[in-house]
Amino acid sequence: MSDFILSLNKISKSYQTSGSEKLTILSSIDLSIAAGDLVGLTAPSGAGKSTLLHICGLLDTCDQGTINFLGQDMQKASDMTRTLIRRREIGFVYQFHHLLPEFSALENVVLPQLINGKNPQQASERATELLRLVDLKNRANHRPSQLSGGEQQRVAFCRAVANEPKILLADEPTGNLDEKTSDTVFEALLSLVEISGMAALIATHNENLAKKMKRRIKLKNGKIFSD
Ligand code: ADP
Repeated sequence: MSDFILSLNKISKSYQTSGSEKLTILSSIDLSIAAGDLVGLTAPSGAGKSTLLHICGLLDTCDQGTINFLGQDMQKASDMTRTLIRRREIGFVYQFHHLLPEFSALENVVLPQLINGKNPQQASERATELLRLVDLKNRANHRPSQLSGGEQQRVAFCRAVANEPKILLADEPTGNLDEKTSDTVFEALLSLVEISGMAALIATHNENLAKKMKRRIKLKNGKIFSD
């Protein structure tokens, strides 16, 4: 049994464009992420960052290669197993927060825990603690529309880690924010990940933010390079 949380072996992915043209996005990629790994992924727009993250997050399939999650071959796993792993073991953060507008910050962090079977009091305590860690405890009862862009994104980070996933996958988590806000919000994300001890794969086009991560990889011409 491997020590890796996620391991991609010779993953390839192409899209069929008009006619018989094939657009190769990922070409025989190997990538392994262990517990506590904090990996920054940079690439020019259109290089395939989102495609790679979707495959890592079991939201999309590859054409060739194998994906192992906690030693289990995901190609051979049932849809139910993939769904449960996605729900319990993987946290997602996107460029836009996608918070539920009719619920408070606290409720947005509580809900995924209830869906996962946690009791309401424990879920509320964990949500309160996470919001405290990102300096939003006093905004817990505010709705997303009453929060700034950076605050909304910090709530989305808390929601993503609420169920203590083994790995967090983030696709341009501060891409929608101005530079100064990006910096503090990105720091909040890194400290949440570090405190929780989970692994993370964080895509950003911002080289300065990528430099804050221990391990950096670049995606170029369908291949991954260490940075
Ligand atoms: P990034 O996140 O790095 O900007 P994406 O992974 O979103 O890149 O996309 C990589 C390339 O694949 C882009 O050229 C995009 O147009 C193309 N692409 C993405 N999804 C599809 C699809 N469903 N069909 C055809 N081409 C796609």
